[in-house]
Amino acid sequence: MLSCGRTDGEITVLSLTVTAAMLVPLARGPAAAPTGQPHAIAVEGESGERLDAMAVRIADTVDWLASDALEGRYAGSEGGRRAAEGLASRLDAIDGVEPAGVDGSWFQPFTVAGLSHEARCRNVAGRLLGRRTKGSEPSTIVLGAHYDHRGRTDTDDEDPVFNGADDNASGCAAVLEIAGLLAAGDRPESDILFVFFDAEEVGVGLGINGSDHYISAPLAPLDETALMINFDMVGRLTGGLLMVGGTGTSAALPNFVAEASTGTGLRIHELATGIAGSDNLPFFEARIPVLFVFTGFHRDYHEPTDEAGLVNVHGIARVADFAARLVRAVDRRRHDLPFAADTEEMDVKPDWSPRLRLGVTFEKALWFRIPAKVSDVEEGSPAGAAGLRVGDVVVEIDGVPTPDHQTTERLLRLDDLSPTEREAFTPRPMTLRVHRDGCRDGIEHEPDTACDTVLRCTPELR
Ligand SMILES: [Zn+2]
Repeated sequence: MLSCGRTDGEITVLSLTVTAAMLVPLARGPAAAPTGQPHAIAVEGESGERLDAMAVRIADTVDWLASDALEGRYAGSEGGRRAAEGLASRLDAIDGVEPAGVDGSWFQPFTVAGLSHEARCRNVAGRLLGRRTKGSEPSTIVLGAHYDHRGRTDTDDEDPVFNGADDNASGCAAVLEIAGLLAAGDRPESDILFVFFDAEEVGVGLGINGSDHYISAPLAPLDETALMINFDMVGRLTGGLLMVGGTGTSAALPNFVAEASTGTGLRIHELATGIAGSDNLPFFEARIPVLFVFTGFHRDYHEPTDEAGLVNVHGIARVADFAARLVRAVDRRRHDLPFAADTEEMDVKPDWSPRLRLGVTFEKALWFRIPAKVSDVEEGSPAGAAGLRVGDVVVEIDGVPTPDHQTTERLLRLDDLSPTEREAFTPRPMTLRVHRDGCRDGIEHEPDTACDTVLRCTPELR
C-alpha cells in the first residue's frame, strides 16, 4: 500500500507521444513472465554490464516473490512464511550481512489484531555492521521494504493470486541489491539495517503493522537512527523518472539526493512530505528523517495483474545503484541530518504515475460523453509552444479518435508500456487533431480534415 498523488484543483492533463503499438492495450491476465531472465537493456561500458548483472539477480528475486507458489504473501499465511524464510536466506548469502532480528535470528515476530486468523507475522532483518571508527558516535541507516501482499482473490478467478510484483517484490529486490553493493564496497561508518516488513497491506486503517511494531521494539536505537529509506513499488521506472518523497524531513536531504543521482541518468521528482501510506510513516512519526522511493501507480496496482513480466528489472537496478550512492553520501555526513517535520499531507488518491505533460487543463464536464475541451494553456508549456488554444477540442491523437475525455486520458497514460519500452522511453512529437473556433461545436467528434486544426506537440515526461 502506498497512497499519494497530487491535485491541482483541476483535472490533470496527461499527454504523451503515442505510437500505434502503445494504443493497443497489451494482453492482460497472466503475464508471460520471463523466469530468471533479465529484461536486459544495452548500456555501454562497465556500468552497463554491472547493471545488467544486477538485473539478472533482481529478475530472479522478483520472479520468485511474485510467483503463484507464494500465493500473494498474505501476512501470516504459509506463502508469507516461505517468503520471509527465502528473504532471510538471501540476506544470509551476502558476505558481511548478519542476522538482526530477535535472539540472534533473522526474524522479528509480531501479531496483528483484527486479522481473521491468528496471524503470526514476521519482519525480516539483517545488519551490515559499520566500521565504527574509534570515537565516532554510533549511527544506523535503515533501508526497508514490505514483502507481504494481498494474498488471493476470494473468487474462482482464472488468475486468483495477487502476485504483488511491483508491490512490493520490486522493493525487496532493490534492498537486497543495495545490501550487496554496500557489503562489497568500502564499509560505511554507520550500521546499515535491512528490514523486510510484514503486514504492510493488512489490518485496520493503513496497515503498516510491521513498521509500527518495529518502532515499538526497534532493532537499533531510534535516537541513533539517522535516516530510514523505504522502497515501495520501484518496479515501473519509465524514462528514468523516479519519485523520491520525504526530502523535506531534513534540510540536507535534497543535497544528498542530488549528489547521489548525478550521473545516473535518473530524473528525480522530489516530494517534500514524509507522510505517505507506507512503512516510512511510523519512522516519520518517531521524528526520524525518511525518504521513500517510488516509480508510480499504474492500472495493475492492487490487482492480480501486478505480475513479474511487467516489472522493469533494469530500472530496479538503477534505483538500487542510486540508493547505494545515497546511503554512502548520507553516511559521510550523517550528523547533518536534523529532523524537520514536513507536515504537508499527500493526497491519498493514487493518481501519481509517470506521465507526459502537455501543459493544458481540460474542462471537467461530461467526462464520458464529449471530447476533451481545453480550458487553460500554461504559458511556455509544450501545448503553448505547439499553438494549442483555450476552446480547442481534441478529437484525435496520432490518428486514433478520442470521442470522449476518458478515451483521451486512457490513451495518454503510460500504463501499457512493456519493461523494455519503459527503460528506453523518451518523449517524441505527437499529432493532435482539434476542432477550433466554432468550426465544430465541441460535441461533434467526427474527423473533418477540411475544418480541423492539426498540431504537432512534444510533451514532457513528469
Ligand atoms: Zn506496497
